[in-house]
Amino acid sequence: MSYLPGGLPSPHATLDDAPFWQACEHQRLVIRHCEACQQFFHPPLPFCQKCGSSDLTWKPVSGHGTVYTYTIGHYAVHPSLKGHAPYNVSVVLLDDADDVRLVSNVVDAEPPTLRIGLPVSVCFEASGEGPLVPRFRVRTANATNATETP
Ligand SMILES: [Zn+2]
Repeated sequence: MSYLPGGLPSPHATLDDAPFWQACEHQRLVIRHCEACQQFFHPPLPFCQKCGSSDLTWKPVSGHGTVYTYTIGHYAVHPSLKGHAPYNVSVVLLDDADDVRLVSNVVDAEPPTLRIGLPVSVCFEASGEGPLVPRFRVRTANATNATETP
């Protein structure tokens, strides 16, 4: 069961982001990290968005974060979303990756539970024909592992 239905366009890995999607397939979250300025950045590029260096690595992160902002979609912006509204599109600020924010969905909360500052943890869901995609669940007090399931 996936938060959004199959039939949506799936991500297609590029040269720059293929390791991100490969890690998602193994239910791991990795973020581009610059060795020159020691900063994380996203989306991945062949050079650091902050200092321009190409001395880059991929670093695993916990998958913990907080809801930075969100919106509720009431309109099916794609034919496969018909009957699935309302749905949230949430921006999650990761806890351990500087100011990296991922645009995703919180799969188990809607307003008023879904709110800015809500602690969340990554989970991975199918996206039709494409790779697993990172989505988020409400983080409970005893959640210690990003990939655990409730
Ligand atoms: Zn840098």
